Amino acid sequence: MGPQKGELLRKEAGIFTFRDLLEYFPFRYVDRTRITKITSLHMQLDYVQVKGRIVHMEVMGDKRAKRLVARLQDDTGTIDLVWFQGWQWMQKSLRENVQYLVFGKIAAFNGNLQMSHPEMELLSEATIDGKRHLEAVYSTTEKLKQRGLTAKAIGKLTQNLLEQMNMNEIQENIPAPVLQQYRLMPRSMAYFKIHMPASEEEAKQAQRRLKFEELFLVQIKICRVKMRRQAQSHGFVFGKVGEFFNDFYNNHLPFPLTGAQKRVLKEIRQDTATGKQMNRLLQGDVGSGKTMVALLTMLLANDNGVQACLMAPTEILAQQHFKSIAAQLENMPVNIALLTGNIKGKQRKQVLAAAADGSLHILVGTHALLEKEVVFKNLGMSIVDEQHRFGVAQRARLWEKNTTPPHVLVMTATPIPRTLAMTVYGDLDVSVIDEMPPGRKPITTVHRTEYQRPQVMDFIREEIKKGRQAYIVYPLIDESEKMDYENLMKGYEEVKAFFPEPKYNISMVHGRQPTEMRENNMHRFVIGESQIMVATTVIEVGVNVPNASVMVIESTERFGLSQLHQLRGRVGRGADQSYCVLMTGNKIGNESRERIKVMVQTNNGFIISEKDMELRGPGDLEGTRQSGILDLRLADIVQDKAMLAAARECAEKILEEDPDLLAPENKGLFDFLASQKTKSQWSKIS
Ligand code: ADP
Ligand code: MG
Repeated sequence: MGPQKGELLRKEAGIFTFRDLLEYFPFRYVDRTRITKITSLHMQLDYVQVKGRIVHMEVMGDKRAKRLVARLQDDTGTIDLVWFQGWQWMQKSLRENVQYLVFGKIAAFNGNLQMSHPEMELLSEATIDGKRHLEAVYSTTEKLKQRGLTAKAIGKLTQNLLEQMNMNEIQENIPAPVLQQYRLMPRSMAYFKIHMPASEEEAKQAQRRLKFEELFLVQIKICRVKMRRQAQSHGFVFGKVGEFFNDFYNNHLPFPLTGAQKRVLKEIRQDTATGKQMNRLLQGDVGSGKTMVALLTMLLANDNGVQACLMAPTEILAQQHFKSIAAQLENMPVNIALLTGNIKGKQRKQVLAAAADGSLHILVGTHALLEKEVVFKNLGMSIVDEQHRFGVAQRARLWEKNTTPPHVLVMTATPIPRTLAMTVYGDLDVSVIDEMPPGRKPITTVHRTEYQRPQVMDFIREEIKKGRQAYIVYPLIDESEKMDYENLMKGYEEVKAFFPEPKYNISMVHGRQPTEMRENNMHRFVIGESQIMVATTVIEVGVNVPNASVMVIESTERFGLSQLHQLRGRVGRGADQSYCVLMTGNKIGNESRERIKVMVQTNNGFIISEKDMELRGPGDLEGTRQSGILDLRLADIVQDKAMLAAARECAEKILEEDPDLLAPENKGLFDFLASQKTKSQWSKIS
């Protein structure tokens, strides 16, 4: 290939080496013996191959948006082929009245079917290989195509390479027992078959092997990072359960722990007893009782002579944690304080002094805790609530609060799908609270449209009559979005019309209010002075009003699944039956319908997070975008989650038995990883 084409291949497709070319995998296969008649084309066919001659060609559109339209005819009908880009070049190269083999995707335009930017091949030149009728299809770009580097041409390059190379050079990197266990084909065969399969089945098996390899190697790398960290960083040894923990557990525990809470505490106990630094992610649905686990964990730390801190993402949440924890520890000799941006002057000085001289056992606060002036005598346990609100860098600053890094427990109510946890947070240990405190009734969720608003308001009235309270939440996706505020105000007026003063009190809460006003309004709702809270999503995190039994979400279409789930979690906190009403316009799109269906069907945050990832794709989930970990070539952590779990299991087992990969059966893997060293940046995960 000439230098110009070579340069283009580097620029457009990132193909620099033979290896890159081999790893430029096809994204699908076509059966080149299957030719569809033009009359039987329909949208559901997706990619098709048709055969015919061009009977007419015309450049259409105005100056700025020209396109070439070529009409293709076979013995059953015609279809338009359209080029928007590179059309001058196509116009020159296409010929009328000769037979073409045309391959492309069916689309609809003004009610007619058409194919845009199809691959064109003169039938006289088309080689339909009798033995191998399955042809790999590679992605290509307009620029590549114009230079003759069509999908087909790329395929040819690859085939040339495969025919000339010694396949033994592709060395196996998965240990033989794993290949056997999962019935995977050898690596060299997979590289060959993925490009030149003889059948659908062969193509599938080759893909399966290479996907597994991809996931397996990621897992091996993550597990090694984790092992290395555990071997290197020594943590405090919490050797005993002492007076603080036992006194609280035996004399002050307000309720028996759930089985899940006990199990998680045990996991934390085990971690912290080893001398390794704990780095644990605690997932538990809204209301599953993570705070109690945090409290007991902090007491465990105090028992072992170190201080503990709990960091929350908002002022309100920090205050709430402080109040409830302080109340629970009232009759115990534990010194606890609150530190937020609002705590100033003498009070702040006192808190800082107590942290520094070690007389403070537990410090609760916002990210104010991260500031340099906050110095601990001996911090041994840092707990972060709602971790997804904090960046990785912020979390890392907690580590630096002591010479021996404190143990870290991050808690989240936004369940991270297991598959994602295994990759993005793969080097954290994960604990799950998968059980709700007893007596909770699942929240009843319904979908209502604009027509039914009066009935919804009546329903709220009934609940208020029973002494309950209600939230009505409006979307506020962007703080600067004027429309959203207007809708909120309109909504507020409307609610007021249904619930007139003085019989009813309504609190309105949103981010544009002065803090004091907002907190005052919120407080009125917390103490039951107002029965209804009209709010934006500022209430998403934290607010705890067990007496509230109705959550009405306006413009549900505009919320993502996990946000809806978070909002719903604001009710159902007491023993009463609670309700969530998802309001939408009278007409809604398919994806919104899907989301609403999931919400109506389940209260389980894990199912919802999995579904959320399915609908939005993993790249959109918080914290994953920058990680680069999801840059997988073949595998897809949503679709291939079973395989991912298997790969994880394999990787763990192998490293457990042979941490340095020195056993003979792991030699291939060892060599492969060594050869890759320069390329990887895996030490940066999490
Ligand atoms: P989250 O996991 O969302 O942070 P919280 O820790 O705020 O949940 O707990 C929610 C509510 O459940 C609190 O009122 C808490 O006191 C209560 N709770 C927690 N654990 C139990 C339990 N084992 N039995 C009964 N109630 C519990
Ligand atoms: Mg919580």
